[in-house]
Amino acid sequence: MKKCFTLVLSLFFLFSFNLFSQKEKEDPLLIKVKPAKLTTLKKEAFSWLDSNMEELSEINDKIWNLAEVAMEEYESSELLASYLEKMGFAITRGVAGMPTAFVAVYGSGEPVIGILAEYDALPGLSQQAVPYKKPVKEGEPGHGCGHNIFGTASTAAAVAMKQVMERGKISGTIRLFGCPAEETVVGKVFMARDGVFDGLSCCIQWHPNSENGVSLDSSNALNQLKVEFFGKTAHAAGGPWHARSALDAIELTNVGLNYLREHLKPTARIHYVILNGGGAPNVVPDYALAWYYVRDIDRESVEKDYERVLKIIEGAAMMTETTYKINFISGVHEMLPNRAGNEVVYSNLLLVGPPRFTEEEQTYAKKIQKNLGIEEKGLKTEIEPFRLPERSWGGGSTDVAEVSWLTPTTSLGTAMAPVGAPWHHWAEVACGGMSIGHKSMITAAKVMAASGLDFLTHPEIIKKMRAEWTEKREGKEYKSPLPPELKPPVKPKR
Ligand SMILES: [Zn+2]
Repeated sequence: MKKCFTLVLSLFFLFSFNLFSQKEKEDPLLIKVKPAKLTTLKKEAFSWLDSNMEELSEINDKIWNLAEVAMEEYESSELLASYLEKMGFAITRGVAGMPTAFVAVYGSGEPVIGILAEYDALPGLSQQAVPYKKPVKEGEPGHGCGHNIFGTASTAAAVAMKQVMERGKISGTIRLFGCPAEETVVGKVFMARDGVFDGLSCCIQWHPNSENGVSLDSSNALNQLKVEFFGKTAHAAGGPWHARSALDAIELTNVGLNYLREHLKPTARIHYVILNGGGAPNVVPDYALAWYYVRDIDRESVEKDYERVLKIIEGAAMMTETTYKINFISGVHEMLPNRAGNEVVYSNLLLVGPPRFTEEEQTYAKKIQKNLGIEEKGLKTEIEPFRLPERSWGGGSTDVAEVSWLTPTTSLGTAMAPVGAPWHHWAEVACGGMSIGHKSMITAAKVMAASGLDFLTHPEIIKKMRAEWTEKREGKEYKSPLPPELKPPVKPKR
């Protein structure tokens, strides 16, 4: 009996301890969201997407094959624009002075729902759809950030929404934005400056990922610049006193920047590469070129850091008796996440569910992981919890941030990359041009179409999104980081 009592007592303690530790473990940042309801409209959108999966996957693979880098996406952008045109959208090509940027519009009146599409590849990442490193052509570009899927899924979502709107006589406007040069943080910045995103009620965007989820994280604001120094050349041994070294100016700039770091806030990030530091050690370089990124937690901080960087460049020129030219490339804001809109997207992700990968696809992903020497976890098959952001210390920058300052903008990620594989890598190229990429694409398209339909048919959601957006902006109006006279770095058709 005593034994039994002890057992009961210990079971009680075990149980209460378990309860206690569960309570302790409860994530304070977790936001609980219920799956969205499967309405008739969403059913129609999903069935249109399912029955057009083959054509959409073909478009996806064509863009994957083209693998055109930033500002050279002539065929990729045309592929999406002409498909949208065929499906009943009105197209404006060459917006904001960029031949590879376009806007596709369907419908009229409010609300005006924006959808962002991207399609630029990355240099040097050519890769076949095989689970080991094997370029199609060595040194050529590849879709290492999955923008082929990005562009296709967004286009698919816009067309699916249009089909449903047409049949159900739903009013409102869809504006799909063909955004070039995301990888160089250029496309949307020029489009934003030129008012291309003006007049939106809200905007939907996404990005292929290694996880399925919706993020409320921000991103870093950024200014990027190239600096040219001009000096005087001479024989480096015979008469160096006649010379003024442009390379010295870059090196002194970098020394100055590295001292500056201590006196910037810990949120600041400065990085650089020297693109041209001369041709031979025995010739004092009269020309040198370096590329700098200045990032910080928000636009105001970047602008303050940037002023100090400019002073250091000027100081280096004085020390070396050289002259210099600043070429401002682009700048972006920090991302303004929208919880109200993202809750809707997350509820639709729960409704649609993550991509359902086959055993074969998981084996393919595991082979990639094996070849990379990382844990063979395959592809994610669950949905990540929806959480409030933790304090950000750094991270990348995105030109989507510009859109988020012009209208409430949502986010989404669906799995297409093997867990733990580095990004901007052949691993993503290997997955993006085959069935793994197709499944990620169709999942994202369904979630975005369903969310878009919610935005179109529930004005109270947009009202809530806009109220949150207005509050977060704290009265600040969007001001382009670009100088008004700066032209986009257009490249000719190859
Ligand atoms: Zn990307």
